[in-house]
Amino acid sequence: MILEQKKKAFEFIDFHKNEMLALWEELVNTESGARDKESVDNLAVKLKNIIENIGMNTKIVEYKNAGNSIVAEFGTDRRKKGIVFSGHMDTVFKKDTAKNNPFRIENGKAYGPGVLDMKGGIVIALYAIKALNSVGYNERPIKLIISGDEETGHSNNPAGAELFINEAKGFTAAFNFETGFTDNGIIVGRKGVAQYTLEVEGVSAHAGNAPEKGRSAIEEIAHKVLDIQNLTNWEEGINFNAGTIQGGTVSNAIPDYAKVEIDVRYTKVSKKAEITKSLEEIAAKTYVEGTKTKLTVKNFMYPMETTDGVMNLFELAKNTSIEIGFGEVYPKTTGGGSDASNTVIAGVPTICAVGVKGEWNHTSREYAEVESLFERTKFVIACVMNLKDDLV
Ligand SMILES: [Zn+2]
Repeated sequence: MILEQKKKAFEFIDFHKNEMLALWEELVNTESGARDKESVDNLAVKLKNIIENIGMNTKIVEYKNAGNSIVAEFGTDRRKKGIVFSGHMDTVFKKDTAKNNPFRIENGKAYGPGVLDMKGGIVIALYAIKALNSVGYNERPIKLIISGDEETGHSNNPAGAELFINEAKGFTAAFNFETGFTDNGIIVGRKGVAQYTLEVEGVSAHAGNAPEKGRSAIEEIAHKVLDIQNLTNWEEGINFNAGTIQGGTVSNAIPDYAKVEIDVRYTKVSKKAEITKSLEEIAAKTYVEGTKTKLTVKNFMYPMETTDGVMNLFELAKNTSIEIGFGEVYPKTTGGGSDASNTVIAGVPTICAVGVKGEWNHTSREYAEVESLFERTKFVIACVMNLKDDLV
């Protein structure tokens, strides 16, 4: 029965290839730069109409300081626990990027801003749902969560991250259609990101006339940069990086200001408080009497933890991929964040990067393999049909 259903669903995809490509083109050419709320909101309205046409109950979640998000549901009366399809519709690109780099296909590769990250993934999610519907799949409800401010790490809008945690709770599995990898890796873990600025205020003075009256902000921050770097703990999967440094005005003045920007990557959700605390302790110390230090949290993204549930879902995906002839997938971890972290926090086994496969996302060279659009849609359909409730 399932075999027959899979075959029919795959035929549905083969039959709708041109339609899928047309939607991909439309989504790529409809720009949605993360820092341009108006364009993201415009795409959200367009997508809402498309998703409603599939028969899903769809709502736009509005935000003041960030692009709006979409939540859509289907089959809420189905008896088994539901599945989450997730991702984002914003891109990192500036306005008018698509004018010079519009969607196009050359030698089996599709190009354009967001073609890989992750407008192809949205097409996959929608056509997986359409194909499942077309073959009468009615086992589990499906919920679609599409963020409009993922590329900024929800930094202006913590509610954008919480949306995933709240909406995913109680579901049995989640698939995130982020940027797929050409080597068939499936993401089972992502590092969390925490970013801070540390600013030191000193006292300026002429370096020749009255150096003893000065309090060097650079001297103070130099000590602190070393303290920060020393917090790195490879065994615990936490690394600190003082990535930029600024300070002073001219060489013959004692500098009264210095600043470092700090990026922290970590693997355990529970470490969040500890990381901030360790930096606060450094900020509170004084090496150069008379200087003052201020620490500001800029951005916080949780890690995607590799839980047992995540690995069980991965195993199912691996077996499914082999079963349907798409070769072996392997478990991959990466430093970059995604909302898969939030569905895992919700207690939902999640695999990430099941979108179209390609390279160079976030650059003008971004491309995706066209064939992977159809392959990955079939892969997800088969995973959904093979799902059991024993993942956790
Ligand atoms: Zn992305």
